[in-house]
Amino acid sequence: MSGIFDTRIEYLKGVGPQKAELLNKELNIFTYGDILQHYPFRYEDRTKFFKIRDLNEELENVQVMARIKTVELIGTGGKKRLVAQVFDETGEMEMTWFKGIQWVVKKLPVGAAFIFFGKPAQYGRKWSMAHPEMEPITAANEKRNTFQPVYSTTEKLRAKFLDSKGISRILEVLVPLVFPQIPETLSPEILHQYQLIGKQEAIRQIHFPTSPELLHRARKRLKFEEFFYLQLRLLMMKVTRTEKSRGQILSNTDLLTDFYKNHIPFDLTNAQKRVIREIYGDMKSSRQMNRLVQGDVGSGKTMVAFISMLIAISSGAQACLMAPTEILANQHYEGLKGYAQMMGLKIALLTGSVKKSARKIIHEELLNGELKILIGTHALLEDVVQFQNLGLAIVDEQHRFGVAQRAKLWAKNEEFIPHVLVMTATPIPRTLAMTLYGDLDVSVIDEMPAGRKPIQTVHRYDKDRLKVFGFINEEIKKGRQVYIVYPLIEESEKLDLKNLMDGYESIARAFPQYHLSIVHGGMKAEDKDFEMQRFVKGETHIMVATTVIEVGVNVPNASVMVIENAERFGLSQLHQLRGRVGRGAEQSYCVLMSKYELSKDSRIRLETMVRTNDGFEIADVDLRLRGPGDLMGTQQSGITDLLIADLSKDAPLLTLARDAAQQLVINDPELTQPDNAAILRQVKQQKKTAVNWSRIS
Ligand code: ADP
Ligand code: MG
Repeated sequence: MSGIFDTRIEYLKGVGPQKAELLNKELNIFTYGDILQHYPFRYEDRTKFFKIRDLNEELENVQVMARIKTVELIGTGGKKRLVAQVFDETGEMEMTWFKGIQWVVKKLPVGAAFIFFGKPAQYGRKWSMAHPEMEPITAANEKRNTFQPVYSTTEKLRAKFLDSKGISRILEVLVPLVFPQIPETLSPEILHQYQLIGKQEAIRQIHFPTSPELLHRARKRLKFEEFFYLQLRLLMMKVTRTEKSRGQILSNTDLLTDFYKNHIPFDLTNAQKRVIREIYGDMKSSRQMNRLVQGDVGSGKTMVAFISMLIAISSGAQACLMAPTEILANQHYEGLKGYAQMMGLKIALLTGSVKKSARKIIHEELLNGELKILIGTHALLEDVVQFQNLGLAIVDEQHRFGVAQRAKLWAKNEEFIPHVLVMTATPIPRTLAMTLYGDLDVSVIDEMPAGRKPIQTVHRYDKDRLKVFGFINEEIKKGRQVYIVYPLIEESEKLDLKNLMDGYESIARAFPQYHLSIVHGGMKAEDKDFEMQRFVKGETHIMVATTVIEVGVNVPNASVMVIENAERFGLSQLHQLRGRVGRGAEQSYCVLMSKYELSKDSRIRLETMVRTNDGFEIADVDLRLRGPGDLMGTQQSGITDLLIADLSKDAPLLTLARDAAQQLVINDPELTQPDNAAILRQVKQQKKTAVNWSRIS
């Protein structure tokens, strides 16, 4: 195929080196292919014409057909403006210009009819438009039915006549020139099955729509393609890995049966049972497991982890669990120790603060197989940590570890890559999970253990503080403990600490009878730990903290979470913080404190928190508010590289594209069928660059 799409943009008629350099710098556009994929970000509706009588304040840019009645210059010096009175059969309005008057005035003969385009505004009784676009009415444009593309551009480009129209003019030259060479990148079967238009037509329509329907179909086609190649890439990675990585067959369930019969302290929820079945299915097959378990805080992931460990150990292997912080590793250890002992299995904790002598014993017992379960931080990844036979590696709170670290775990067993289970309490909308973790299988624990009382959440303004303090007092009198959390203010650590300290002092004044703990990011790890432990043991009643307590901490007796300046937190963070309470048998509460004036987004966030405890629903709202680019882990995933598709808005299309890619990988994994030649070509061509596979190059 010709490399026409790699041709440098300066060689296109009407561009030249100067404009090309600006396009390079400002928009990262270097080649024909690049500008062809500089898709409009919206379209102006030029299908409708408004009568002057029908104008209203709500309207954005609109078109009005009107005739010039008078043209006059008003004012002097800097305040000079050109005003044209225009009329149609329903009324009169004004068009005004403050700049370029010399130039405009020549184009406005009295009596001539124009299409004016701009945002109407009302001054007194009269409608006006400032600096409208205008064109003389012709037989053609009077009846036109188009959507005019709007391209993103910059001030510097505009100064060189590369405004949206200027970019459109470049494409007017380019699209006809390369049109016949735009390759089809989907198979006839997929085009037919999903009723998609061809790539050439899609590119033409996206830049020069001839009807709203065709524009819609062009957008659909291009979005589908983008999702399709994103999913295809992930699925092919998965296939390659599964083929390469034979898994150790771990199918014995003796320990599991013993545990179920004699020790398990509660009935598993149906969701837990289902997820355990999925995990067992993986571990007893000869494929290596790579599974993500998503479950909201409190959904019982620890038990799922332990039971998976039993499956591994039953078959003669060992298991480890890695957590992102020492506090969390500790809590996992404390949580699992009891179960392990009950089953007569040796378990140990390995973190940075474990003494050398103790470490040595751990290393030995791992190698001779005596130690069955190892819990720890990334200290587990050190090369000296060697297992006799690591069969299962569990990673908690995935987003804090990179893929590279996961790979290090794989290397801990030379014969077989260990089965890997990734657990996260950060719910991710399905569409995003498909993509972020497209190379993993996903299980969801979507049910809470029975008898759990849902946390009650309220929103209170700062002026109600006394009432809130009264409520805190009541709860502590009942024997409960309380968290009060302050936000991190990123711009200034000092302000941060001051905010926290002011809060601490006012709380100390309000509750002289109670003991307080304080934990913040500026403290040494051991001081933090010490304060945390005092709260865990119930020696203090109120924990005043910044968000350092966000992840994992488990104090079942704490039943109230007060979040100060709640409007400053993101939704997922609020949800994580709320998850610190509601872990015991008592009714728990979350109080969101905020100032009175709130932005629209802040209000939606707080209302969402009050309305629901469902982490997935919250994640969906979060995705809609923030877009996927801001969500954790999206940077490395290629999602931010999408040109036209939008994960938060185009979810149904993503699902279709995922199905199509899945079908293809099942039916023709090597892409050898003639029908799939176009796809094979595209995959091969893009593989080197690791960018968005749907790109033209
Ligand atoms: P998370 O998913 O947040 O890690 P945990 O595993 O810490 O949740 O479980 C939270 C609490 O619920 C623990 O005290 C645990 O013992 C309890 N739990 C877990 N599963 C069940 C169940 N099926 N029935 C009752 N309680 C359960
Ligand atoms: Mg947990």
